[in-house]
Amino acid sequence: MSEDLSQQVERLIRPAIRALSAYHVPDPGDCIKLDAMENPYPWPPEMVGAWLERLRHVSLNRYPDPAAASLRQRLLAEMEVPAGMDLLLGNGSDELIQMLALAVAGPDRVVMAPAPTFVMYRMIAEVAGLRFAGVPLQEDFSLDTPAMLSAIEAQQPALVFLAYPNNPTGNLFAAEDIHRIIRAAPGLVVLDEAYAAFASDSFMAALADYDNLLVMRTVSKMGLAGLRLGLLAGRAEWLSEIDKTRLPYNINVLTQASAEFALDHRRVLDGQTAQIRADRAQLHDALAAMPSLTVYPSEANFILFRTAAGEADAIFAGLRERDILIKNLSQAGGMLSDCLRVTVGTPEENAAFIAAMQEILDL
Ligand SMILES: *Cc1c(COP(=O)(O)O)cnc(C)c1O
Repeated sequence: MSEDLSQQVERLIRPAIRALSAYHVPDPGDCIKLDAMENPYPWPPEMVGAWLERLRHVSLNRYPDPAAASLRQRLLAEMEVPAGMDLLLGNGSDELIQMLALAVAGPDRVVMAPAPTFVMYRMIAEVAGLRFAGVPLQEDFSLDTPAMLSAIEAQQPALVFLAYPNNPTGNLFAAEDIHRIIRAAPGLVVLDEAYAAFASDSFMAALADYDNLLVMRTVSKMGLAGLRLGLLAGRAEWLSEIDKTRLPYNINVLTQASAEFALDHRRVLDGQTAQIRADRAQLHDALAAMPSLTVYPSEANFILFRTAAGEADAIFAGLRERDILIKNLSQAGGMLSDCLRVTVGTPEENAAFIAAMQEILDL
């Protein structure tokens, strides 16, 4: 018996896991960080002081409230969840996606989403032993609704994820197409509204109209990415079942206290969000003025753009040399060939990015 370590790994670890590549997060070093849709703004010093004062009273020696009842009540109001609907909280919305997948997993079960979209839907589905079906978007990144409807008919997905607005493309799908998909789906449809703070529309109010709709939000893109807090809104009949896949105490005491504090200072977060939306328009126009680029409209806090054929890697590297980190999507290939994605930063960061682009493109 001379099984070496790599053979042991191969024998023991499930093929679905070995086939995955781990979610890669590059080390930003001292770069201007425009790769991960983070809010670039710190809190005013007096607000930091008040927050630290609040944390003095948090009992680190005690387990958290497992239901995070006080924070849940607060989020029900702040997120305009319709009356009669419930909320389930996750350690980021990534954990909620995982809970949803675990709750419906089975050998013949399918998770469906348009492609390209948020990569965690596929990754989590495969880890949970579900089959993932991606339905290509049209060339302008709108939904191919006939293709979605026939894929739903043929594959009867247990879960359909629709990111609204979509990541990495930044657009809102047509609301009427989404209504048709919700009506046609035999399973749950999850509207992932991670970028709701930057978008002009939401399906939160539509929860009342459909039994099979759930709406997911996160505080990450509002300026609290470090807290890890996501929420899933919908009918208690679904959420009470999905809740059984949740690890107890998934929302830690520091997150519970800090999120409530941040919601007490919602005006500060909303001010930052409004600034980012205004700067998004300027950044869009500055990129659109560069003749070799195609710039896509955005309802999120990032902008997707397409470079001249074969140029994306060199532009990404040129930015990196100038200490600016964005996201290179070109390697994903297909519809994202030659595409780069930049997060809207502070006006100074955006100006540095635009200046670097002009230099790289010889403008
Ligand atoms: C960033 C993002 C998430 C993840 O949010 P977390 O709450 O930070 O886990 C979910 N969905 C989409 C579409 C995202 O872009």
